[in-house]
Amino acid sequence: MSLKYITPAERFKKYLPKDYVELVDYGPFGKTQDEAGPGNMGQFKELMEEHPMCSGCWMAYFIRLIFASLPAPEETVTLGTAGCGRLAISQAAVPFIYGNYGDQNAMASGLTRAFRIRFPEKHKDVITIAGDGGTMDIGFSMTMHSWIRGEKFTTIMLDNEVYGNTGGQESGMSPKGAILKMAPLGKKGEKMPATALAQAAGCVYTVRLSPTNIKKAAKVIRRAIFVAREVGPTFVHAYTSCNIEYSIPTEDVFADAKEKEKTRFQFEEYMTDEAKAVIDRVEAEEKAAKRAKKAEVV
Ligand code: SF4
Repeated sequence: MSLKYITPAERFKKYLPKDYVELVDYGPFGKTQDEAGPGNMGQFKELMEEHPMCSGCWMAYFIRLIFASLPAPEETVTLGTAGCGRLAISQAAVPFIYGNYGDQNAMASGLTRAFRIRFPEKHKDVITIAGDGGTMDIGFSMTMHSWIRGEKFTTIMLDNEVYGNTGGQESGMSPKGAILKMAPLGKKGEKMPATALAQAAGCVYTVRLSPTNIKKAAKVIRRAIFVAREVGPTFVHAYTSCNIEYSIPTEDVFADAKEKEKTRFQFEEYMTDEAKAVIDRVEAEEKAAKRAKKAEVV
């Protein structure tokens, strides 16, 4: 949980597993997004390289993207709960805490507060990553109360609009009329307005997206994390289809995500003035650092 702790002493390197040493040497720890970020995935050792999720699962792709976007993976802890996503999140080289049926935002509240007491001089990024069931159904009260209390961490919801892990029950985030294996008559109620609920509960930055553009998705994930460090709770609501329960052929997964971008996952970004000030400052600092690096090379 810090660059110092994960870097092995030179003379011990030969005794350590090759995978570990390669991760320290060629992974994203301590690097910029230009050196090891979503723009050059496949050219550095990623934090999550293997997972047991279904082939072609859009959720698995988005989780990979989250890990490639982290501003400081060596200072990050993720928390999750039951559901498909944790099968991949738990495989990443970032500490992961597995909660008990939807309590990830309650645990994250305590952890964030503890980090601020234990490491007052550092930003320790706490991120909950859970499905629509874990975030908006089973964990709803804990999600909402963490936002109402103004807890400074990021909530990422992987919305596949179904309980994929348990065979296809409808969730609060399933769209009205969705016919699923365990909802054969079609869902009666409306899809929950997640970002509106987040804003009403006090989130200072919210974004809804279908992650079809890698750089744009990385940008908003990072914005959410930077703002949570300083201002308050932030929320990323991402469409991460379930090709099994919605019968989307693997080769059509991207086209489906593009289509959803035009309908119920239209891009929406909300930020308070305070959140905007943080984003403007951080992005200006990043640009200045890039210019300085370029000037050094020339
Ligand atoms: S059941 Fe659906 S969400 Fe779960 S891993 Fe398979 S495709 Fe992905």
